[in-house]
Amino acid sequence: MYKKRILVVEDEMIIAKDIKDVLEKLGYEVIEIITSGENAVKTAILTKPDLILMDIMLSKKMTGVEAAGKIRKEMDVPLTYITAYADDNTIEKAISTNPYGYLVKPFEEKEIKVALELAFYKFSMESKLRKSEEKYRTIFENIQDVYIETDLEGKILEISPSIENFTFFKRKKLINTFIQELLTDKKEFRVLKEIILTKNQLFGYEISFKNGRDQEISCSINCKINRDAFRKTKRIVYSMRNITNQKRMEKRILRAERLAGVGQLAAGIAHEIRNPLGNISASIQFCISKYKPDENIKKYLEIVLRNSENANKIIKELLEFATPREINRERKNVINILENTINMVQARCSKAEVEIIRKYSDKIPDISLDEKWIEQSFLNFILNAIEAMPVGGSITIEAKCDKENVLISFQDTGIGISGENLTKIFDPFFTTKAEGTGLGLSLVYQIIIAHEGNIEIESKIGRGTKVKITLPLNQSILHRSYDEYDPDCGR
Ligand code: ADP
Ligand code: MG
Repeated sequence: MYKKRILVVEDEMIIAKDIKDVLEKLGYEVIEIITSGENAVKTAILTKPDLILMDIMLSKKMTGVEAAGKIRKEMDVPLTYITAYADDNTIEKAISTNPYGYLVKPFEEKEIKVALELAFYKFSMESKLRKSEEKYRTIFENIQDVYIETDLEGKILEISPSIENFTFFKRKKLINTFIQELLTDKKEFRVLKEIILTKNQLFGYEISFKNGRDQEISCSINCKINRDAFRKTKRIVYSMRNITNQKRMEKRILRAERLAGVGQLAAGIAHEIRNPLGNISASIQFCISKYKPDENIKKYLEIVLRNSENANKIIKELLEFATPREINRERKNVINILENTINMVQARCSKAEVEIIRKYSDKIPDISLDEKWIEQSFLNFILNAIEAMPVGGSITIEAKCDKENVLISFQDTGIGISGENLTKIFDPFFTTKAEGTGLGLSLVYQIIIAHEGNIEIESKIGRGTKVKITLPLNQSILHRSYDEYDPDCGR
């Protein structure tokens, strides 16, 4: 069996020999008897004992306490002091070296046994605790999810550094602030607290957090009440996961599915409706020219004609939206396309008293795109912006690029879009305009996605709307048609 190795540091030889005999009788191995503090430090480092029995008062230069302090700095070893008498000051210094016990001279065999076994036990428990603390610290510092602890009022007592992965908040600055301040809707905390106080725990609760720069992140949190056994207080512990990307992806898939469904349906009925509509128009026109009806009848016939033409316009747009089409890409510069589009709407802008402000960066490389469809998208954004500014305003068009994308934005000073409508504007047929078809943005959405780009719209009621598009500098799949498009953008 392994014998625990003990280093004895004692300058009174008779006592030292006595201790050695007792220790060996008890089944320990005595490595050496050392009589000075200096030697104790050297030997301990060299022999790595399982325990050191150290006399507090050594007669030479270095005291036992000093020697223990030096050894502790170098290695992790349990240490038990032997003492006959010591003043308060020495005891205080001894305590600061974190000893594992004291043996007061003279002592008996049993006392040594108990003191040493207690020291070994305490040391092994401490090592276990240290290891487990290290393990949890590593997990805490490296988890991707965010761990949070608050009191029942929401004060943050602990938060893991992972909060810095997807927000601009610094962990240290968040401690002692209130979790309510991080929530998009402060009142959510009360709702959440009520649920956990009644159910004790909560899984997969979706909640919106701020990121520190005016953006929101969707998070899923699990939380639980923890009771602090000492202070008898309750805490809420949370594990929070950023699900913004997942939500965005789900929305895309849903939208793509909805668009595909509507597209098929629309294509199916559009042809059927076009024929009767054509007949209506032709018959009315024939009627008017052949029978020269009096003004009153003519007025009503013209209303029928105008409405059937309107219906025809909608059907035409619908077919355009629903028919799968080829994307024919060529390398083009978006600035040229923007300028062509602006030319087309110049007259309308002047009439509506809308000013176009250009902010182009001069280093935008050509990218591979379908000029006609991208132009159609830009046209839709500008027309929507003009229509959102009934008393005039401005559209700021910005184009720039980063390492991966060309970024184009259209910012108007119009009426804005409510939060509720913002979730629907890409839905086919969603319109807030009396004359609108609600197909513009759903068509644009398909065009941008087919170019492996992305589109985001930010808006504030009464302040205006910003449409942001990204188009990748390098597309992975060339010449893809609409019906082949992948809603996940191949990502
Ligand atoms: P339509 O223009 O035929 O209504 P769109 O798909 O182009 O269809 O737009 C859908 C809806 O989105 C519009 O009816 C309008 O409510 C809203 N919208 C789009 N762009 C803007 C904008 N720049 N400002 C305000 N609302 C907008
Ligand atoms: Mg429109």
